[in-house]
Amino acid sequence: MAEFTLDLNDDQKQVRDWLHGFAADVIRPAASEWDEREETPWPVIQEAAKVGIYSLDFYAQQFFDPTGLGIPMAMEELFWGDAGIALSIVGTGLAAVGVLANGTEEQIGTWIPQMYGDANDVKVAAFCSSEPDAGSDVAAMRTRAVYDEAKDEWVLNGTKTWATNGGIANVHVVVAVVDADLGSKGHASFIVPPATPGLSQGQKFKKHGIRASHTAEVVLEDVRVPGHCLLGGKEKLDERLARARERAKSGGERVKNAAMATFEASRPAVGAMAVGTARAAYEVALDYAKTRSQFGRPIIDNQGIAFQLADMRTQIDAARLLVWRASWMATTGKPFTSAEGSMSKLYASETAKKVTAQAIQILGGNGFTREYPVERMHRDAAIYTIFEGTSEIQRLVIARTLSGMPIR
Ligand SMILES: Cc1cc2nc3c(=O)[nH]c(=O)nc-3n(C[C@H](O)[C@H](O)[C@H](O)COP(=O)(O)OP(=O)(O)OC[C@H]3O[C@@H](n4cnc5c(N)ncnc54)[C@H](O)[C@@H]3O)c2cc1C
Repeated sequence: MAEFTLDLNDDQKQVRDWLHGFAADVIRPAASEWDEREETPWPVIQEAAKVGIYSLDFYAQQFFDPTGLGIPMAMEELFWGDAGIALSIVGTGLAAVGVLANGTEEQIGTWIPQMYGDANDVKVAAFCSSEPDAGSDVAAMRTRAVYDEAKDEWVLNGTKTWATNGGIANVHVVVAVVDADLGSKGHASFIVPPATPGLSQGQKFKKHGIRASHTAEVVLEDVRVPGHCLLGGKEKLDERLARARERAKSGGERVKNAAMATFEASRPAVGAMAVGTARAAYEVALDYAKTRSQFGRPIIDNQGIAFQLADMRTQIDAARLLVWRASWMATTGKPFTSAEGSMSKLYASETAKKVTAQAIQILGGNGFTREYPVERMHRDAAIYTIFEGTSEIQRLVIARTLSGMPIR
């Protein structure tokens, strides 16, 4: 029987230390510059590609770690370096996961390499689901995909918003409605290959935080993609739609549960990003509190400061444990009977917001300036309670799971 342990094995420690080194030596020193420039940090992505961090192989290795800790560990270290740059590095992974989850072997082999490019010519990819009127309410999506049987092509029309890497991506993965009567069960995902006519970038957003990560609208006007760009293929889609129509008639419960399981499994990764940012701010605050003196003694000698740091560290460790539990559950196939994935994302993201605000307070006036990184970390932390499901949506999912109510 396996013994219970929270110790990382030697391989995990080695990967963690390697990633920490990259985050400390390459990401952190570049953070302020790219935050101010509000541009994609291509040279840093290229550096990550050279050492093997920006690649499908790297993600696959972490994803298949049998303990489930590979991905959260990687996210925590990279986001400890800087959230905006780290999102530029892992953003392509969101689109790649979309293909891995729904694509055929051929689609995976064709498109994922084009998402990353190579170390001499790096590319990025975008996952486009959100729309101006369909954020939390994914079922309200309006982008349509219509099949042109004569040409074996799909025609996509609509406007996507908030797409990380939208418009600058080599490959876009676009979620669209194929059967409007089925709500979110009538959606399908499509690859839009490089330089496809009709796809353009709309507004690029000027953001509060994670400013090194490009976020933009993506406009689709009569975008024609070959039939083989439908992820999973037409036969599988037709079968799935037929099943969804049947289940819609008889209550639809089983389909809903399968979709929820997928979200529950991916949310801890965002929780881990939040833990990385929170830990970074806490470390700066701890160091400052030990070195800054007022009234003839280090400010950490005041309980008012020391207790704040004690709470910050306790909450960060608690967040990490929730994230690790949910990741371990996802990898080992344990059912999320209490929405443990949502719990981990909720707690870690709220902790990051709180801890980064406390860090500013502990640094006093310096915390409020861009001379110190906690101001940036606080702006960055605000994203975690918004994307991949807001805190309100996480609470809604947890509450409905606990009460046994259906999750729409
Ligand atoms: C920087 C950034 C990057 C992003 N990257 C991507 C990406 O790559 N791809 C992509 O597809 N999307 C992306 N998103 C979109 C993100 O997932 C959405 O912003 C998020 O799902 C919330 O949707 P919304 O902004 O429309 O807010 P809304 O859904 O309009 O919510 C507004 C407020 O109402 C609350 N609310 C809504 N419904 C309920 C309810 N039933 N009960 C209680 N409260 C409720 C919300 O919690 C929130 O506080 C990104 C967003 C940002 C800001």
